[in-house]
Amino acid sequence: MSFDLAAVIRPEVRAQIPYHTGPEPAPGRRVKLDANESPFALGAALRGELAAEFARALADVELHRYPDPTARNLRDLLARDLGVGTDRILVANGSDEAIQMLLMAVAGPRAAIAVPVPTFAMYAIGARVMGTRVVEVPLGDTFGLDADRFLEVVRRERPRLVFLAWPNNPTGNLFDAAAVEAILTACGGRDGEALVIVDEAYVHYSGQSFLGRLNEFPNLVVLRTLSKIGLAGIRLGMLIAAPEVVREVNKVRMPYNVNALSQAAARVVLAHGDVVRRHAAAIVAERDRVQAALATMPGVTAFHSDANFILLRTRRPGDAVCADLLDAGILVRNFSRAPHLAECLRVTIGTPEENNAFLHALAAALGPRRTA
Ligand code: PMP
Repeated sequence: MSFDLAAVIRPEVRAQIPYHTGPEPAPGRRVKLDANESPFALGAALRGELAAEFARALADVELHRYPDPTARNLRDLLARDLGVGTDRILVANGSDEAIQMLLMAVAGPRAAIAVPVPTFAMYAIGARVMGTRVVEVPLGDTFGLDADRFLEVVRRERPRLVFLAWPNNPTGNLFDAAAVEAILTACGGRDGEALVIVDEAYVHYSGQSFLGRLNEFPNLVVLRTLSKIGLAGIRLGMLIAAPEVVREVNKVRMPYNVNALSQAAARVVLAHGDVVRRHAAAIVAERDRVQAALATMPGVTAFHSDANFILLRTRRPGDAVCADLLDAGILVRNFSRAPHLAECLRVTIGTPEENNAFLHALAAALGPRRTA
């Protein structure tokens, strides 16, 4: 047979480079600081009580039945937790899926989306595979958002969706809130119509949110996830917006997109907000300690972070630094060849021991022997 696969796969998909998830970590001795997860295993940390509760909740799940298609119980709990109506919440298989649903419902092949660069890769990847044009607006030297430049693009290109990660990934900073407001206003009918997605994946580490502004901006969509606070494995993300927006996006959602085990696990953890807050506070304290240590280290520039990771630029080539870190058993995310991120790497904040191992290995990789 001379089957030509290229004749059937859409050109946009063939052209796409798959999302990079990093080298597969070797089992055993390793410090995994490459994926912005929480270093704390919620079940293990609470040992007895939470583990037993998990076991009970999971034992009650009827695995022979489809899950609740609207995840009503979970959405009610989330609504109470977030202080918004249940009709404003849509749950997803990770916020990645919420991004995909927004692109499907809004963008499509004839539209454009606008994103700052650098930012989270999935906005552009998701758009391009759908044949949607991606308009990129470069951030400034320290990765600030230039509202005037962005608004000019909005007026010229008329995007249907604007994605703003707040704090931004991989740069770690919160954009100026006034710049975000200016974009929401411009896209709210003054200079065109677009949904503005404020992706708050790292809200637990920034302490700042646009959630309270939903009534003011009918075009605001807030994204949240449980991935960064100890539950990356269950894949639970959510979209919070005006009920009309939720109703429309819900039409493209697969009926059982959040599985029964994930719904049950999320319900247990939501009942333990105190644990989540305690872990987040510990990570914020560690972030500030690592940031201070990096500020005194020669050969490295660390950018300010409001998230659970830090972007840094090294004087020595980034590939070599990452290779030395890997030799020391430490996985970080290498961005050194990405546009706008020459010689940059991103390190996720881990436990104090993991962070010390990272700082030690980085100092060795940048030490006098290595800088030549
Ligand atoms: N948004 C941002 C800004 C992220 O950094 C990430 C994860 N890297 C996501 C969304 C995706 O999160 P989830 O695990 O919920 O799909």
